[in-house]
Amino acid sequence: DAPAVHEVTTQLLRDWPLPMPGAEGDKEERGHVLVLGGSREMPGAVILAATAALRAGAGKLTVATGASVAQLVALAMPEARVIGLAETEAGGFLPEAIARLDPLADRVNAILIGPGMQDEAAAAELVHGLLERMQGSDTAVVLDACAMGTLLHAPAGWAPGEAFRFRQPVIVTPHCGEMAHLTGIEKDDIVSGPDARALASSAAWNAVVALKGARTVIASPQGEMWEHEGGNVGLAISGSGDTLAGIIAGLAARGATLEQAACWGVALHARAGERLAERMGVLGYLAREIPNEIPALLESVA
Ligand code: AMP
Ligand code: MG
Repeated sequence: DAPAVHEVTTQLLRDWPLPMPGAEGDKEERGHVLVLGGSREMPGAVILAATAALRAGAGKLTVATGASVAQLVALAMPEARVIGLAETEAGGFLPEAIARLDPLADRVNAILIGPGMQDEAAAAELVHGLLERMQGSDTAVVLDACAMGTLLHAPAGWAPGEAFRFRQPVIVTPHCGEMAHLTGIEKDDIVSGPDARALASSAAWNAVVALKGARTVIASPQGEMWEHEGGNVGLAISGSGDTLAGIIAGLAARGATLEQAACWGVALHARAGERLAERMGVLGYLAREIPNEIPALLESVA
């Protein structure tokens, strides 16, 4: 039987409050996020995602990005510690990044991988290497964009044809086109049956799935489902998904479960778009403006 799909309403969010730092809390207690991504051609995506993670209330930020753009990112994001990684030709990172990031991966509360990365095979090798070393860690992992290709490039020893299953808390955030790429299913079939697809993929991958669109459906490996419809077509803009992934990572770093971070993140992202549309018009607001709306929205929902 298909499970009930819960609508993400203000009431649902109020009944599911986010973890709050104590008044005496320090930045560690508020949560440390690592954002891993960016490339020569897309350095801005990590800036968008990292800004969104801080706007969602996380306390501490590390960005790991291509060495060729690390100084530029550091200048644009004075809040971040920035690590420069050796790059592949195609816009990914060389495998030596795994050892470099390993000590950090266990220390942070959430890792977002993917914004602005371009080399899917290199991204997959990196993610598999990091996940392997993070066995048993409860660090939340958010995979977006290029890093979701981890599901297509299973590590050595994985049976061909068998769906890759994550062994730690992971969320993937595909839109329907990316879901088609990840599953080999026609995009039209995903668009016409998103709930069943999100549920089946979540179970197969052992990951929370947020299948994005004007209506977004969230499925957990335990078979729970949520839906959210809102926002506006202004959110269909370059960089918009990077801000959503950053919000989710920021909330997870604060201690939200991935299901909670997804439901809250999708709702906050959509409402940010609604508020921008009220002030500026529905078309033409920028992805970089989305994170600015989040702090007030966090208080208005809570
Ligand atoms: P991405 O395609 O990765 O940049 O992500 C786009 C983001 O914008 C997702 O969170 C979508 O849910 C959202 N979005 C895209 N188009 C619409 C739309 N027409 N109405 C509301 N939200 C949208
Ligand atoms: Mg995207």
